[in-house]
Amino acid sequence: MAGFGTWQGVLSMIIVPEKEIANLIGRAESFDAVEAVFAAMASKDAYNFPVIREAIGHADALYGFKSGFDRKSLALGLKSGGYWPGNEAKGLTNHQSTVILFDADTGKVKALVGGNLLTALRTAAASAVSIKHLAPQSAKVLGMIGAGHQSAFQLRAALEQRDFEKVIGWNRNPAKLSNLQEVAKQAGLPFEAVELDQLGRDADVIISIVSSQSAILKNAHVTGGTHIACMGTDTKGKQEVEAELVARATTFTDEVAQAISIGECQHAIADGSLVQGDITELGAVINGTHSGRTSEDEVTLFDGTGVGLQDLAVASAVVDLAVKSGVAIEVDF
Ligand code: NAD
Repeated sequence: MAGFGTWQGVLSMIIVPEKEIANLIGRAESFDAVEAVFAAMASKDAYNFPVIREAIGHADALYGFKSGFDRKSLALGLKSGGYWPGNEAKGLTNHQSTVILFDADTGKVKALVGGNLLTALRTAAASAVSIKHLAPQSAKVLGMIGAGHQSAFQLRAALEQRDFEKVIGWNRNPAKLSNLQEVAKQAGLPFEAVELDQLGRDADVIISIVSSQSAILKNAHVTGGTHIACMGTDTKGKQEVEAELVARATTFTDEVAQAISIGECQHAIADGSLVQGDITELGAVINGTHSGRTSEDEVTLFDGTGVGLQDLAVASAVVDLAVKSGVAIEVDF
């Protein structure tokens, strides 16, 4: 798996600036890193530390840390980041992330890695891993809910997992769907903007990636065998799908503790229609200790809350690639 192998002996700190990330890592490496770390989480070789997220009372910013340790790859570190709503006016991205990796043997800092593009790649990889392991094999129609920054990354990664023949999409502002139409066009697929009832009826796989405080996809919308990847709900109070739908589906997640507190499962847990024991880590399916989907008619749901170990996994892969390709900046530290 992606890890510290090629640069473990390096004593100085490695810097991989944000501008280099796109040239170093793509969807395939991100997919492999995330699939491996989900497997390590389910076998208890890797674990996430509690998330810190604070409104800092300055610049309307939300700031926090996601961190963890993977004993298999020896990835140890944190992603520091948050949301600065005033950044766009300054020509900067509102979401700002940086990953810091440490040497698991000594605690010395090993690497500082730009985390903005990596966040999009690892989030898209998570839903793609869920599609690989949980979607109906015969899936032909991919439904997208949301057309914000993350959505095109999600669509590109998802299209690689099944022989999709069509993409359909819904967004609060339908004009924004042109981004997704362009991605579908690049993949040679037709795209149609639809209402939610048609999306729920026609899509074999649904990815939801919106920032909403109330359910958009309703239980009644989804008919037939479907895999739903809920990727937008990563904070207490957010919601993308109706709790009844979460309770009806066979429910998987990256990490159960996050799913019940900040993920899509929080609402079904709160109303008692779902209990913690109903939720399975996706890694268990990857490891073969859970059978995953049992029929083409089943509704499966992946609650992708976004864990620190995903960030460490892709950042470790980037550092390996940066060292190999000679673009890693080494500094004495
Ligand atoms: P964005 O701001 O670029 O786009 C927001 C999207 O949400 C748009 O499609 C917008 O139309 C939609 N939206 C906002 N409010 C809505 C409402 N009330 N009803 C319906 N639609 C609404 O954001 P983004 O960067 O694309 O991120 C989307 C979501 O994904 C956010 O909630 C973000 O926090 C979350 N996210 C999750 C992970 C993870 O690991 N799970 C990682 C990154 C981002």
